[in-house]
Amino acid sequence: MAAVLAVPLILGACSGGQPTSSTDASPPTPTGDRRAAEALASAATGAGAVVHLQALQDIAARNGGNRATGTAGYEQSVDYVADTLRRVGFDVQTPTVPLSAGAESGDAQEGEGSATSGTTRNVIAQTRSGRTDEVVLSGAHLDSVPAGPGIGDDGSGVAAQLEVAVKMGADAPITNAVRFVFFGAEEDGLLGSQAYVRGLSPDGRRDIAVMLNSDGLAAPNGGYFVYDGDGSDGSNTETAAPGSQAIERLLHDRLASQGVQPRGTGFVDDSDYGPFVAAGIPAGGVFSGDSGTKTAEQARLWGGQPGVPFQPCYHRACDDINNINRPMFDRMVNTLAYGVGAFAVDLNGLPPRNQRSGR
Ligand SMILES: [Zn+2]
Repeated sequence: MAAVLAVPLILGACSGGQPTSSTDASPPTPTGDRRAAEALASAATGAGAVVHLQALQDIAARNGGNRATGTAGYEQSVDYVADTLRRVGFDVQTPTVPLSAGAESGDAQEGEGSATSGTTRNVIAQTRSGRTDEVVLSGAHLDSVPAGPGIGDDGSGVAAQLEVAVKMGADAPITNAVRFVFFGAEEDGLLGSQAYVRGLSPDGRRDIAVMLNSDGLAAPNGGYFVYDGDGSDGSNTETAAPGSQAIERLLHDRLASQGVQPRGTGFVDDSDYGPFVAAGIPAGGVFSGDSGTKTAEQARLWGGQPGVPFQPCYHRACDDINNINRPMFDRMVNTLAYGVGAFAVDLNGLPPRNQRSGR
């Protein structure tokens, strides 16, 4: 089993870890108790998440083929996520997000969305269990572009995160609270995540121990990328906060344990991790690629077609329910579940609260 082979690597890379007995037959436990993470990763599956993908596809089909900000398709996506979470016992909030926030600040990116005024909503649900000053925040954006249903971008992240939340439940026996956030208006320039981070007090920002971003997890010609928490790839345009390297390592090792070879990808402020990284919050996540082109080396590593985009249907009408790489989605869901479950029990490798910037 590949997970066993990964043990010496993990222990070697992690000077702060507690070595486990070499006779221990349980899964690798480099920095703490990973049984809860293993259990969550077993319970949360790609097959379970596909139910949510289909629901988002159906919503788009009923609403002119998209779920973009400001449309009925988006509002129905909000209702679907909120209802699904409430059914398993979560208290759910859907705070309003002003769509002019990015324009006022002057730092919004060129968006591909349609919204220029008015408001939209984020969806937020947090476990009732766990410390609320040591929060594991899992984030994915709920809006599509106007051009298509957005099932890969970012139905895949939404469905993965929703599956993890449903299987974890609102009262899971965890040490650190888990907050699931579904951001609005990402395609309009990260407006939902910007408003969310700006709306927190310095103490509220310090309460977030780790942010895991899920945006584009199942590209048909995709790859296995992990955000570059240790800066080793030289492609970050934002400096990841201390502790981000521990996130990268954990997610990298989980993918590797499933028999694939992950590679780094830069924090370049083009998804909802951006405002968190800017606020000095440790961040990370897995990613399958979007408009970038797969290289010959990446095709040798992962299969697929070199010289073709990871996601040929990126921001197009064909980003639909048939545009999902199922083996990849299964591994990405497993990895997200493992990451959420691991950090919910143990924050080893991440800065203690009094060393978080809160900026
Ligand atoms: Zn996206």
